[in-house]
Amino acid sequence: MQGIQTTTSEREQTRVERIGAHSHIRGLGLDPTTLEPRGNSQGMVGQGKARKAAGVILKMVKEGRIAGRAVLMAGPPSSGKTAIAMGMAQSLGSDVPFTMISASEIFSLEMSKTEALTQAFRRSIGVRIKEESEIIEGEVVEIQIDRSLTGASKTGKITMKTTDMETVYDLGNKMIDALSKEKVIAGDVIVIDKSTGKISKLGRSFTRARDYDAMGADTKFVQCPEGELQVRKEVVHTVSLHEIDVINSRTQGFLALFAGTHRSLIKAELRDQINNKVSDWREEGKAEIVPGVLFIDEVHMLDIECFSFLNRALETELAPIVIMASNRGITRIRGTKYKSPHGIPIDLLDRALIISTGAYLADDIKEILSIRAQEEDVSLAPAALEILTKIGSETSLRYAIQLITLSNLVARRRKAAQVDVPDVRRVYTLFLDEKRSVQFLKEQNSLLIGEDGQIGGGAG
Ligand code: ATP
Repeated sequence: MQGIQTTTSEREQTRVERIGAHSHIRGLGLDPTTLEPRGNSQGMVGQGKARKAAGVILKMVKEGRIAGRAVLMAGPPSSGKTAIAMGMAQSLGSDVPFTMISASEIFSLEMSKTEALTQAFRRSIGVRIKEESEIIEGEVVEIQIDRSLTGASKTGKITMKTTDMETVYDLGNKMIDALSKEKVIAGDVIVIDKSTGKISKLGRSFTRARDYDAMGADTKFVQCPEGELQVRKEVVHTVSLHEIDVINSRTQGFLALFAGTHRSLIKAELRDQINNKVSDWREEGKAEIVPGVLFIDEVHMLDIECFSFLNRALETELAPIVIMASNRGITRIRGTKYKSPHGIPIDLLDRALIISTGAYLADDIKEILSIRAQEEDVSLAPAALEILTKIGSETSLRYAIQLITLSNLVARRRKAAQVDVPDVRRVYTLFLDEKRSVQFLKEQNSLLIGEDGQIGGGAG
């Protein structure tokens, strides 16, 4: 493609991270027309207002009407902020990029903070590239294949008579295999898709329209000025801007994606060049920009430099929608001595659409716990579910979810098929929740080492 190479999307890789705890989430569980939240749908329970708001944003992302916007999901720990983001990711089309990072990932020795953020931004912008591949149709005059060679090194030639000329084509391996699969012999009429090397045999007495139709919906006919019929096939693939950067920044081309070297610095000039090229493709109608989603979890971990980068980057032409999540109240903005809501500077906060998530009702907790139990193939006795719900309401949903796995281990040790109250009780006493852990620190203060390095300052 005019000097700049692309390859197929790797978005699945960015999506699988941190998916375990949310594997039961399959979408936002909304009614597709009204966007009203359904009771218990696609693994989602409760948090109706936040889910609906997320659905509205999702709709705009899908329609390509929202880019360069910031959204903040704010709410207490384990109130479903990440779950809702995962639900959005599941509902996006397969070629809309969704990148998920935790703010602390930005701080690494490998690259600067701004380079890491730039890469995250560019991973979240898709470029949908349309290529027309030529398809040739004609009668086979002669086939020569060197069968003495095997495996990857077979060679061959095919002479084909097309409407107005006789042409010799060198055959690649794929084509040779396709020829033998289709049992092509001299005299057959075949169609070669030059971009994929796919060969289809049409037979001598074919009627074009009918046979081409059978080739699939992405095949279309082009009526040439001379009245000849040509077949063209449109190939569409979506890659992220970051993938285009990586492929073009290395001599080994797209292999760089697999070599793990793509986390290193990419020159600003190269990015400018790529932006210009992509904008040419857009003008020529060869490419479309697909603004995706960049989800930044624990956004309060970013520092003031990162926030000012975000502010600026959101204003550029090629910006995704940035969804941030924070469970902090009024707290210090990293890198400054100033406090701000969620630890986010006011100017960034001001441009963000804020979605809040609240604490769960016991019924919601109960339902989420049974979904998680099903997901983990754990059978819970009704009384065990009740006690886990109580624990979830008094401590946190995440702690109660963790107890499901642990109490199942205990139940299995006593060879029981179902988790019961004593199993839950046992793991509850073995593993502390946050409140009991703080209590423990207070009680043991005199024995723990404090900030000053002295025994006795443990609880601060
Ligand atoms: P934190 O601020 O601590 O990061 P969070 O708000 O991102 O918390 P999650 O990680 O989304 O919380 O939720 C904790 C667990 O509860 C996860 O396993 C999540 O999938 C599940 N969960 C939370 N809310 C819901 C919900 N509404 N429906 C189904 N599962 C949920």
